[in-house]
Amino acid sequence: MRPLSYARVADVDSAIATVTQSRESAFLAGGTTEVDLVRQDVLRPALLVDINDLPLNRVEDLPGVLRIGALARMSDVAEVPSVRQRYPMIAEALVLGASAQLRNMASMGGNMCQRVRCSYFRDATSPCNKRDPGSGCAALNGFNRGHAILGTSDHCIATHPSDVAVALMALDAVIRTRGPGGERSIAIDDFFLLPGDTPEREHPLEHGELITAIEVPATPVASHSVYLKLRDRESYEFALASVAAAVRVQEGTVTEVRLALGGVATKPWRARRAEASLLGQPAAPAAFADAAAAELAQAEPRALNAFKVELAQRAIVRALATLTS
Ligand SMILES: Cc1cc2nc3c(=O)[nH]c(=O)nc-3n(C[C@H](O)[C@H](O)[C@H](O)COP(=O)(O)OP(=O)(O)OC[C@H]3O[C@@H](n4cnc5c(N)ncnc54)[C@H](O)[C@@H]3O)c2cc1C
Ligand code: SF4
Repeated sequence: MRPLSYARVADVDSAIATVTQSRESAFLAGGTTEVDLVRQDVLRPALLVDINDLPLNRVEDLPGVLRIGALARMSDVAEVPSVRQRYPMIAEALVLGASAQLRNMASMGGNMCQRVRCSYFRDATSPCNKRDPGSGCAALNGFNRGHAILGTSDHCIATHPSDVAVALMALDAVIRTRGPGGERSIAIDDFFLLPGDTPEREHPLEHGELITAIEVPATPVASHSVYLKLRDRESYEFALASVAAAVRVQEGTVTEVRLALGGVATKPWRARRAEASLLGQPAAPAAFADAAAAELAQAEPRALNAFKVELAQRAIVRALATLTS
């Protein structure tokens, strides 16, 4: 039995101050990640600081930027008409994640900070460098069918589980934070860290630093976008491979493209090689396949997840074909 305290705060400064006071404390939003991991004995906070009363749940479609409050619920964001019309890949990624009940609870800030689904991380006993730095990685030679083929290291190969973060990665979102040291804006590509030799560190957030909002720069290409998610079953399941794609075609030629991958990498993966390969090419299956192959050429599959190389390539081709047909 371990004591676990709970505090509910009403303003941002109190939330930051309360969590900063002790290394053993953590923010609590919807609790759909945090409470599971406490129950599983993977996380052992002494104090959970409930932030649900903070005024951070608005979604604002402002000139030049879509501003999503950190406490906006996944289900609410997916229903905002301007998100559905102008950023369909965001709405689709949200609706394809988790279950309706979870989406009603889960916050956008919590989604950015959700932890990996690697079963060795969650069983609280296997060697796992992410849970217990230096203990090893049971997945390297274990059951790694769901694990990453991009962005891996010898210390961790867990995939990043978020769907909506993939769409946000494709759209160059910015994570706004406030912490003991003041406010920061973190480009989403810098917000998700590769495992390298410190897989326990997943974000550049300092202890007590609160995500306040996610900002998506307005861009016309986002309105012509799609999120494709491939998984073992049609609902309530994480991606084996997913693609967030947006494309602009003029006179048959690709003039702008955004591509990001989920389910195959240790962080939401911006497919920059594929984007570079596609620009200026005909919007046709052969060019899509070349772009997909260029991106996946850097894949490092393991014993059980080699199928993801072809799966991801096919997903890229299908997403692009869907947008251009
Ligand atoms: C069965 C199941 C299936 C799921 N399927 C999917 C799926 O298919 N796709 C998908 O994308 N996700 C999926 N999820 C994950 C789900 O989306 C996340 O658990 C959820 O988004 C986390 O949000 P939360 O508000 O519940 O966070 P919490 O559990 O409250 O917090 C999660 C972490 O974030 C920290 N945190 C929360 N808010 C902030 C903030 N504002 N600033 C700084 N830190 C913060 C907490 O301290 C904690 O460490 C699934 C989850 C479950 C349980
Ligand atoms: S893949 Fe990462 S999370 Fe899974 S056991 Fe290895 S170190 Fe832990």
